[in-house]
Amino acid sequence: MNKTQVEKQKKKLFKKTQLTYDQLEKKEQNAVFTFGDGYKDFLNTAKTEREAAQKIVALAKDNGFVDIDAFLAKKKAKSIPRKVFRLFKDKTVAMAVLGQKKISAGTRIIASHIDSPRLDLKQNPIYEDLSMALMKTHYYGGIRKYHWLAIPLALHGSIVKANGEKMDIIIGEAADDPVFTVTDLLPHLAGKLQGDKKISDVFVGEKLNLIAGSLPLGNDSVKERFKLGILQLLNDQYGIVEEDFISAEIEAVPAGSARDIGFDRSMIGAYGQDDRICAFTSLSALFDTPAPERTAIALFFDKEEIGSEGSGGAKSSFLEDFVSDLLFLNQEPTDSRHLRKTLINSQCLSADVNAAMDPDFKEVHEKHNAPRLGFGICLTKFTGVGGKSGSNDASAEFVGLIRTLFNENKIAWQTGELGKIDEGGGGTVAKFLAQFGMDVLDCGPAILSMHSPFEVAGKADVYMTYKGYRAFYNSPDK
Ligand code: MN
Ligand code: MN
Repeated sequence: MNKTQVEKQKKKLFKKTQLTYDQLEKKEQNAVFTFGDGYKDFLNTAKTEREAAQKIVALAKDNGFVDIDAFLAKKKAKSIPRKVFRLFKDKTVAMAVLGQKKISAGTRIIASHIDSPRLDLKQNPIYEDLSMALMKTHYYGGIRKYHWLAIPLALHGSIVKANGEKMDIIIGEAADDPVFTVTDLLPHLAGKLQGDKKISDVFVGEKLNLIAGSLPLGNDSVKERFKLGILQLLNDQYGIVEEDFISAEIEAVPAGSARDIGFDRSMIGAYGQDDRICAFTSLSALFDTPAPERTAIALFFDKEEIGSEGSGGAKSSFLEDFVSDLLFLNQEPTDSRHLRKTLINSQCLSADVNAAMDPDFKEVHEKHNAPRLGFGICLTKFTGVGGKSGSNDASAEFVGLIRTLFNENKIAWQTGELGKIDEGGGGTVAKFLAQFGMDVLDCGPAILSMHSPFEVAGKADVYMTYKGYRAFYNSPDK
């Protein structure tokens, strides 16, 4: 072969990897930034699973989705709504656009999660030490504990008072709000205590305590007068007493808004992008799915970060219940067999983030199979630990289907493994959905600084993820 022929063969045989920006049309390059602005707004109003659920439902209503429970509770109904949602216990959401085919022919599901790692207040949080009132926390999900020291934190959450009244709070987001913080040891005195110790020995969960105040109530004959000062203030402002914290869920999250990163503003830095990046992109994709062939479903789970437990996690019967109600709504048989077949016939993208190769930590990645920022939506065939343990290993057939779909729709995509073999590992909701017999593939953007208070995503990847999900919902059956 001559040189030209060799080049031709190379072009034919090699897998093409293209930077998303190179593949976008001119008008799409602007769309990337506009979409990014919408995404930042979403992040700023959805910093906890409760807030994300609330925001998703508000946007769903704006887009003509009907509360399925309210609809089914009505005795007489004229016509069946084609677009429905369910809010479950204020923390988990499902949405669907009914397809042209019967639901039992199988649905197309995109499943993300809306919980993120954070510090939860303990149930007896307030105490005092020296001349300060402090709050005990218990971390939620996989955090690097040192990330949470010496940064401004905001409190978001709900408190159920003794009379059953529920109150939502957000303290620390408005410009003139106070914030909270966990103190850190000064370098001058850290040598002996921390010096050459392992990170896990240096940073311990019980030291992640928030500073709550330092004004006492009463004179120094009053015991615990700093704690009392805070409780008095909370009582004045919110009408709560110490026991109310027992029935409260208050989360300390990084204070502040999502920001553009870089001189060129090509990236977004924010807390909680794992996995609200997939929540927002799948939600936007569903809004752009007016008449799908198969019923299109978006799931927004809670508790993924602690193993998909609980009534609103992916291990629960939430999906089965929602799909059986969709069958009922569409006047299809709802018996167990039909439900099972519907789920078996379904296809699912487990929408979650992967770890992009980090220029400063390349050694934990295997460069031939690591996803990179800016190269589009990432197909992750398997996750897990060691020998793929704890993973849903997507079938070659389903990966093939999605690959072809993305190629046909000019979606920039890449594949990715979470780090080198035996380097660590992780999992997603994929395996819990695969238990129903449906095809499931992990598919979402790759980000940097995952699980940190300031995760980094590429705007082109966010946009391409939306386009990929939209193609999945809207593609005809083959
Ligand atoms: Mn995740
Ligand atoms: Mn995570």
